[in-house]
Amino acid sequence: MTPHQAAAAARSVDSGGVSPSAVTPGEIPAAYRPAAAEPLGERGPVRELTEEKSGRKRRLDYPPAPEPLPVPVIDNHAHLDFRDGQVQVTVAEHLDAAQQVGVSGAVLVGYDVASSRFSVEAARTDPRAKAAVALHPNDAPQLAEKGKYASAFEEITTLAEAEHVVAVGETGLDFFRTAEAGRAAQKESFYDHLALAAQRGLPVQIHDREAHADVVRVLKDAPALPRQSSSTATPGTPSWPGYATRTAGT
Ligand SMILES: [Zn+2]
Repeated sequence: MTPHQAAAAARSVDSGGVSPSAVTPGEIPAAYRPAAAEPLGERGPVRELTEEKSGRKRRLDYPPAPEPLPVPVIDNHAHLDFRDGQVQVTVAEHLDAAQQVGVSGAVLVGYDVASSRFSVEAARTDPRAKAAVALHPNDAPQLAEKGKYASAFEEITTLAEAEHVVAVGETGLDFFRTAEAGRAAQKESFYDHLALAAQRGLPVQIHDREAHADVVRVLKDAPALPRQSSSTATPGTPSWPGYATRTAGT
């Protein structure tokens, strides 16, 4: 059996609800190996970038599995709809591998309408996934410029009512990627998301890139948010209501 066939067999077993293929620390899990590549599908955007604007090279291969964590944690910020390079990994495969090294669940983050729908749908089908919905701070100004922001945010508002939505995110400010001209619209969008979070009683996932003072200013100015919103990620016994929500740079 070739590695490709082995990976395909492992995936078909996974999708049948039988125990997932074993993850060995120090080895790349089968689903993440380049040999498991499939033709480009329709499961989400493909991230082909090898170099970011900053000049940093983005790696498109996956690292070996680490040793299992001593205590289980929940990943509070995961983009499982992205696919790096040619390797296609399903949400179930991601969560199977994560579970075997002590990450027992993940909050799937929304950054536009499509990814927010993806999060809601994934959370509906896999109890290890929960959903966050939002328009990303770098997308909001572009939508505003095209006159599409209001309708997109309306869809996010509707999605926020879906079952298994546990946060509004990712929202925030990003002065690294958004130039001065787009920052007023970005700030407006941040306020809108904070108001939505307050209205729904949900915590927020904050994207804060080179905009820290302004993020703090907006937060002080914004409607009262649930207490979890300003906490930082801490490992511990996972419990959905207690997960943390502050992140930066992704
Ligand atoms: Zn992110």
